[in-house]
Amino acid sequence: MAQEQPEGRWTAILTEINHCNKCGFCLPSCPTYRLTGQELHSPRGRIAMVEAAARGELEQWSALEEALTYCVACRNCETACPSGVHYARILEAGREFLRARHSRAFRGSFAAQQALRLAKYPGRLRGLVRLARRLTGVPLPGAWARFRAMLPPEPRPLPAGPPPRAARRGTLLWFDSCVMAAVFEEANRATQALLNAAGWRVVTVPRQTCCGAIHLHSGERAQALALARQNVAALEAAVAQYGAAGIVHNAGGCGAMLTEYPQVLAEDPAWAARAQRLAGLVQDFTALLWGEEGPLLPFQGNGERVALQNSCHLVNVAKAGQAPVRLLESVEGDTYVPYYGQEICCGSGGVYNLNHTDWALGILDQKMRAVATVHPTRIVVNNPGCHLQMQWGARRHPEVGAEVEHLATYLWRSYVRAAARASSEATAMEGTAAEGRP
Ligand code: SF4
Ligand code: SF4
Repeated sequence: MAQEQPEGRWTAILTEINHCNKCGFCLPSCPTYRLTGQELHSPRGRIAMVEAAARGELEQWSALEEALTYCVACRNCETACPSGVHYARILEAGREFLRARHSRAFRGSFAAQQALRLAKYPGRLRGLVRLARRLTGVPLPGAWARFRAMLPPEPRPLPAGPPPRAARRGTLLWFDSCVMAAVFEEANRATQALLNAAGWRVVTVPRQTCCGAIHLHSGERAQALALARQNVAALEAAVAQYGAAGIVHNAGGCGAMLTEYPQVLAEDPAWAARAQRLAGLVQDFTALLWGEEGPLLPFQGNGERVALQNSCHLVNVAKAGQAPVRLLESVEGDTYVPYYGQEICCGSGGVYNLNHTDWALGILDQKMRAVATVHPTRIVVNNPGCHLQMQWGARRHPEVGAEVEHLATYLWRSYVRAAARASSEATAMEGTAAEGRP
């Protein structure tokens, strides 16, 4: 019998599973199915395993463990599914069930366990990143050496831009991803500078914490719920204090998690209702750089070919994947280059690449081969996990010859270039006018 999950929870999961008609339309959208060609590692195969567990008909727990632990949780299958199956609910229930059974296979690597722990303490994570960067060249033991190898190099300093415009559009509350704050501070600075330049005031939310997405996807539901409640309380207080027009982020996975808090907290109706009032305010920064008549800022490129690795959760969960594309298409002088397989995950998957490095690299190699077909000079990303993974891909595939950076730093440099060009054109016109004067 499947008594390890509360009765009501299994009933809800079986109701969700019943929406699956086993058509298989989702299979080509799944990175692990594309990698292995095996039904067990497809969305349909995983759903079948959880169904067997929920009905108490599973004979080999190891098969369920294998199926669920190797899922990247990218949720591309949900977008492909014509029946609207909410795969994530099924996956999370299955993973929670495995954790409750103390499944050893699902415990995760030492590095992944540390990552889950540290995500709750962004200050410690930041300190660790600084330390690891300082220890370049010093031999480190296994997991720590891998952690340091994944870190990007010290960021290039951002160019200074024109002074920000008056904040006439209103106030935005800044939700900081713990990994963005620790590893990609320059992208955070660029995002806020872009929003300021577009006329937004940006206020960082006090007492916010990790969004809990990596805990939820790892089956640590209780921890994810605790983090969600802390964030809901922090965001409510900030909205009350500043009267925000929006809650803004630059990390697709974290933003998607905020929008899903009402479902995550659904078993606690009071908290779910509080989360629901906030969810509609959450927006990716790219949506806030677009006005009724186009981009709010001018962007000038440099003759580059720019490919995008859009955050899976921004696309598949928040359904906000078009705003980054529109902005990239608006950069004058650069060419946005879409490629076949663009919507497929890069293999980062929160801590997936720490737990299942071989598979993550197999998925990454497929991604790099796909992106190479359009010969980009630059690959832009909008999620910290994807950022680390794609940089890893660029190091593994130097033949691609593309630099990887966050979309925000790319847009900021393009904006500074456009502002400088406008300023020099204005100066030239003044000079011409002065020469024409008697
Ligand atoms: S979430 Fe991603 S990896 Fe998992 S079954 Fe769906 S498409 Fe495949
Ligand atoms: S999840 Fe959706 S697409 Fe996949 S087999 Fe089930 S019904 Fe078909």
